[in-house]
Amino acid sequence: MDLLERTNEMLSDLPDPSDISSEDAESIVPVLRSLVRQHDHRYYVQDAPVITDAEYDRLYRALEALEEAYPALQSDDSPTRRIGGEPIDAFEKHEHPEPMLSLSNAFDAGELRDWYDRCRRGLQEAHGDVEPEVVAELKIDGLAVALTYVDGRLDVAATRGNGRVGENITHNIRTVHRIPMVVPVEGDRTPPERMEVRGEVFMRKSEFDALNDRLREAGDDPFANPRNAAAGTLRQLDPSITAQRPLSFFAYSIGPATGDVPESHHEILEMLGDYGLPLDEHTQRFDDIEAVVSFCESWIERRDSLDYEIDGVVVKIDALPYQNDLGSISNAPRWAVAFKFPAREATTTLEKIIVNVGRTGAIKPEAVLSPVQIGGVTVSQATLHNEDYIADRDIREGDTVVVKRAGDVIPQVVRPVPDARTGEETPWTFPTECPECGTELVRLEDEADWYCMNTECPAQFRRLVEHFVSRNAMDVEGLGERVAHMLVDEGKIHTLADLFRLSVDDLTSLEGFAQKSAQNLVNAIEEARDRPLSRLLFALGIRHVGRTVAETLVKHVASIEALAEATAEDLVAIDGVGPVIAESIVDWFAVDRNRTLVRELQAVGVNTKRKAHEAPADEASAADLPLADHTLVITGSLDGLTRKEASQMIERAGGKVTSSVSGNTDFLVKGDNPGSKYDDAQDRGIPIVEGADALRALVSGESVPDTVKN
Ligand code: NAD
Repeated sequence: MDLLERTNEMLSDLPDPSDISSEDAESIVPVLRSLVRQHDHRYYVQDAPVITDAEYDRLYRALEALEEAYPALQSDDSPTRRIGGEPIDAFEKHEHPEPMLSLSNAFDAGELRDWYDRCRRGLQEAHGDVEPEVVAELKIDGLAVALTYVDGRLDVAATRGNGRVGENITHNIRTVHRIPMVVPVEGDRTPPERMEVRGEVFMRKSEFDALNDRLREAGDDPFANPRNAAAGTLRQLDPSITAQRPLSFFAYSIGPATGDVPESHHEILEMLGDYGLPLDEHTQRFDDIEAVVSFCESWIERRDSLDYEIDGVVVKIDALPYQNDLGSISNAPRWAVAFKFPAREATTTLEKIIVNVGRTGAIKPEAVLSPVQIGGVTVSQATLHNEDYIADRDIREGDTVVVKRAGDVIPQVVRPVPDARTGEETPWTFPTECPECGTELVRLEDEADWYCMNTECPAQFRRLVEHFVSRNAMDVEGLGERVAHMLVDEGKIHTLADLFRLSVDDLTSLEGFAQKSAQNLVNAIEEARDRPLSRLLFALGIRHVGRTVAETLVKHVASIEALAEATAEDLVAIDGVGPVIAESIVDWFAVDRNRTLVRELQAVGVNTKRKAHEAPADEASAADLPLADHTLVITGSLDGLTRKEASQMIERAGGKVTSSVSGNTDFLVKGDNPGSKYDDAQDRGIPIVEGADALRALVSGESVPDTVKN
């Protein structure tokens, strides 16, 4: 049995110390240790893990728990007593003057509070009841390095290695632009004789994606994740390769240093910043553990907004005297803890790949998975995006794959684990025909998707109905995917307009419908007739017209008829509508069937006009403005007002200013020394607004003053 099989077997039935006998514990502990050691080696030495961090953490915790429950089984060579991996021989070794430790973990808010309580208890004897301040830093998922500066110059850089001995990677660190070779970078601060700066080297997600694209293009193996890419890059024997792969760095503490060292962690960070070392801007100091809990939890949601991977938040007691008093256990300080984010990745088997036909005819490949738990949810299907996504990553049926489920996003297959292959896996080729109607598929230039171009394809219509009635679209309560499919498959509806013609009798003949449920659905459909125009536009499923685009369109177009008449030029003039969207809309309305559909929808009483609340705020009230629909001409100079100011005043009041008098002119604004426009206006009998004050009275909506003469 290979490593992965043994790991999965163990993960599926992890021992609980309270549930097993000491004999069982005695036989399980060596197995767990062996598994953890092998995964450590793959992760720390080979930079090629085959399980996710969360899966590793579960193994590690199970081992820790057994060792704690059965102290007789404890051993100094257990991986729970060790840090990281052994340094690799290809590099010169670097002995750390002070060990570089790992961190203990807190997997939820309760464990974080427990850690803080332990710190308070640990300080009680020497300091009484204290509520120590803490500093919370994002836990960047890269690798720890120690940079030793001697008289302000970078002297040696090393990886953490096993905590005591790391690899000397000075040559490679010199290629990392963000790491200063000399400190201070600017200013006149005197550098200490010797100072070890500790921090994380990492690769930004954007750089990681670009690097993997390059590797794939060159036929090389891509890296599993940004952390492995950073580690593999930093531990390159050829610094010129390191130089081609941009790495980043944030400093987060110091090791041994001579001279004056501040008494608190946050001041140390400030000092490092003053020296010109890059710091993560999200670090915060707190005096209340509940605020720290909120900070940590808020980053679970926000982590994807960053261009670098974080896997948690590191919380550290701020005062150095407190840190010293708390001290360390074998492999981690007591004064710091890593709040680890919940799992969102897991490995499982990709049983097979199927394709679905979307409402626009796009054919979407989907992975059917051996069900796997991710963050408390069972995942058995995941998206594979498109043909290139599968081909670029060489994802095969039967592969062990990493699946990610983050927030509300549909789970996706992130990558295969090629090292777990047995030879039974089969590469997959995209079908050439629509699985539903058999039409030959086409892939348009510059498009990632294959399409079924048959607009009568029943699968497309099913999806369209599903989308049309969905919550963000026409929001027909009680009409979910199952009923939508049934209505199409049973031939109850052939167009979207047919939905509005459904009767209670039509529905009661369907499985699962009684008189009452049928009546409820008919009522819900009735209610949906009156949805705002933007919802209808979104519901129609026009490509590229999402909710936001639909709302934007409706601000400028008051009805579906007006949209149908708009040219691509008219549409691109709208802020937020680009040429692709514009073309898609024009193309949609150019299809006869779609125009007929619009007419039918109108005929069955669906609202196709903009509602008052959908109009732009200024337009909604424009009709009420004092000069709405009025055209004015200005002549002469107005006391205290420039021409521009006067024009703006008029426009703000809803009026329009033109340069010459015509039959459309409603008022002439007359200042000193008027020109011939005044004569023109008089000839035509146009009311005159005399002077700046009269204009002010007019735009403010007061009754038309006496100075307006006829
Ligand atoms: P760790 O990654 O949990 O925590 C310690 C490390 O955090 C430090 O060495 C440092 O590199 C990093 N760090 C980031 N920001 C920091 C900050 N602001 N302050 C201090 N440190 C900061 O511990 P570890 O011992 O490096 O690794 C253990 C973890 O590695 C496991 O929990 C697991 O997630 C992963 N791992 C995975 C596998 C696998 O097979 N997938 C195998 C081994 C380890």
